Amino acid sequence: MKNRLIKEFDNIKDEMLSLSKNIHENPELCFDEYKSSNFIKELLKKHNFIIEEKSGGIDTAFKARFKGKEDGPTVAFLAEYDALPEIGHGCGHNLIAAVSTGAAIALSKVMNETNGEIILLGTPAEEGGGGKVILLEKGEFDDIDYSLMAHPSTQALIGRGGLATTGIELVYRGISAHSAAPEQGINALQAVIQTFNMLDSIRAQLPNKTNINGIITSGGKASNIIPDYAACRFSVRTRNFEDLKIVVCKIKNTIKAVEMLTGAKAEIKVGSVYAERYPNLTIGETYKKYMEEQGEKIDYPDPNAKIGSSDIGNVTLKMPAIHAYFKIVDQQIASHSKDFTNASITDKAHESALKTSKALACTAYEILTDKKLREKIQREFKENVPIYESLSLE
Ligand SMILES: [Zn+2]
Ligand SMILES: [Zn+2]
Repeated sequence: MKNRLIKEFDNIKDEMLSLSKNIHENPELCFDEYKSSNFIKELLKKHNFIIEEKSGGIDTAFKARFKGKEDGPTVAFLAEYDALPEIGHGCGHNLIAAVSTGAAIALSKVMNETNGEIILLGTPAEEGGGGKVILLEKGEFDDIDYSLMAHPSTQALIGRGGLATTGIELVYRGISAHSAAPEQGINALQAVIQTFNMLDSIRAQLPNKTNINGIITSGGKASNIIPDYAACRFSVRTRNFEDLKIVVCKIKNTIKAVEMLTGAKAEIKVGSVYAERYPNLTIGETYKKYMEEQGEKIDYPDPNAKIGSSDIGNVTLKMPAIHAYFKIVDQQIASHSKDFTNASITDKAHESALKTSKALACTAYEILTDKKLREKIQREFKENVPIYESLSLE
């Protein structure tokens, strides 16, 4: 059966390639991926998937279903397809879309002999919009048992984690005055500057591996006016959600201290949480086996390497899931760069994407058909993944 599955790719690889090229040529920002989501939906419709539009109330999210012979587990392939401002597909999400869509279509061709269901879930706005967080909150993952996806990279990896993260928008309001008589006003910019300085001064007390990066988004209009309004924005990263709660609490206390010191009044908006990631190693090892059968070496990450964050973390809290990395370029280039945009459309990238798609399809097939494997996956999930009551920081 797996040979048949792999053979199916001979029929669909041109469609996968065109899909990747079409999305790459039409980069769309988060929540605005109308063309990209349509390219995927059209292809899935052609292959007899049933499409549910606007999943979770998001215009560019969708769910495409293909039911098997009888009831059984449901495996979803997750497709991302948003791009970045100015640099286009500098994170290579055109390849993610092609890999997941290809795997879903190939697997659909053997579902008349297989129990369960496959879903291609279109998950927009990974780059900052938290598409998967919204889809989780709206229950769009409730009928899914396992989630699979793979991301292009300069390395081929399984088992890489991700940090918990959130964004904080902070506004200070003061009172404007002539700069010749600053004592008559309340300087909102001073409050912003003090916030940055105080956060620097408490760094040593923050949990290990905490990372806070801030920018000033508004700092006054003229140098002869004491600014009555100033604003800044922070990205906060921590090892896990528990640490994130501690750090956000400390930031809020810092802001209170600044209010007291300066007299400015703060308005704080904490964004949604991308949780830390728990990649399921049992699924990862299965995927690794199919990549290695195709001559691709897969590594485990260096535990000291810096890692980022993604809304897949929240999915890994809900169900066994993987977010593997496949190698599309030999040189060390930066993600979120023009170089990566160019690397995401080469023959080498597409060759690697095709192998990855085959491995994901075979992994999903094994999950659908091997009860023992499912038990092992679930056991690992129960042992390793914490249960958080909620991911709220309010
Ligand atoms: Zn990215
Ligand atoms: Zn990405």
